[in-house]
Amino acid sequence: MSSDAEFRQTLYRAAAGPISEHDARRLAEHADRHHAALCEAARARRQRAFGSTLTFSPKVFLPLTNLCRNFCDYCSFRRSPGDSGEWTMLPQELDAWLQRAREGGAIEALFCLGDRPESVFPSYRALLSQLGHDSTVDYLVAACERAIAHGLLPHTNAGVLTRAELSRLRPVNASMGLMLENISPRLCERGMPHHRARDKRPALRVRMIQAAGELQIPFTTGILLGIGETASERLDSLLAIRALHLHYGHIQELIVQSYRSGPLSTLTQEPGERELSCAIALARLILPDEVSVQAPPNLTPRATRTLIAAGIDDFGGISAVSPDYINPGHGWPNLARLAEQCAADGFSLVPRLPVSARFACDARFVDPGLRPALEAAEARRSAFGVKPSAQALSEARP
Ligand code: SF4
Repeated sequence: MSSDAEFRQTLYRAAAGPISEHDARRLAEHADRHHAALCEAARARRQRAFGSTLTFSPKVFLPLTNLCRNFCDYCSFRRSPGDSGEWTMLPQELDAWLQRAREGGAIEALFCLGDRPESVFPSYRALLSQLGHDSTVDYLVAACERAIAHGLLPHTNAGVLTRAELSRLRPVNASMGLMLENISPRLCERGMPHHRARDKRPALRVRMIQAAGELQIPFTTGILLGIGETASERLDSLLAIRALHLHYGHIQELIVQSYRSGPLSTLTQEPGERELSCAIALARLILPDEVSVQAPPNLTPRATRTLIAAGIDDFGGISAVSPDYINPGHGWPNLARLAEQCAADGFSLVPRLPVSARFACDARFVDPGLRPALEAAEARRSAFGVKPSAQALSEARP
């Protein structure tokens, strides 16, 4: 049988899913040459699992602190004490943001911050102590409680956490997250983007995702494209995430995120649209149907329909009240316009909670103390409407 015929058979199996590692490797090997067919198979899988609905999470982005003990070459977010733009949110600032977020329709409170700054910055430790906390996680627990009191559902991504820290955060988080980014330790070698980032050692990150699985925490992870990884390392990362999910059953969503250069990043080569599209399609075909595949629309604002055509079912968090602090300068899309772009391809755009429906209904995955907040948030979600504006309608039509 010709290699093209073999590839078509592999695609046929992939569209029906699930696929073997051997098939996944064959798909990856020929992904670029058979790009259109790969995306078509990914769309078939998406249609079977999610129908004609695309989702997003109405969120507020709350970077409790941008101090971080790591130095990733692509990062424009992190600061050290004394750097221009350094901040740690004080409780009264947090309350003001939560109030604004609630009034602005947010449901998710995304706490995304740097890794363990108290381990290297004495001035930050002193500030935490003034606030009555002995660690960032201690402050985070209090911040999540404040978010819940404002009617929001926390989702925390605070870098690598221990099992004990995950246990502390579990009762006050609807879900949690950590990007795997890439499974290859090569990216931590001298001259590579994770060389000065001790928390980016893949084994550490895998261990945390395992611990979250053991604790039955609904979990979001993902891969980062364009940081010097090879196609084969990208594939290995997707397979590693699949293996974690097959073992623990806790991955709710996989993010396929493109590196975007920022004011402080030193990498120069951003991934192209086709590269992103291939990675999304592969993710959709490799991951089981119950795992959402997301790509942030603000990082490729002119390629929304490419993301849809490659098989995403989710756009992740979109905020009406706060910027994307991780990717400064990449504003969130206008919801009405995004809804129209979805409609042009036959999809409706629907808000979702920060915890997937299958976990929200499962007492093993949601702390009983979170149930009232979850039910209230679900009522607000049901009432949330995304209506294309007249202007968006006219502009989006081909
Ligand atoms: S990417 Fe995350 S871990 Fe790396 S320097 Fe930035 S904030 Fe720190």
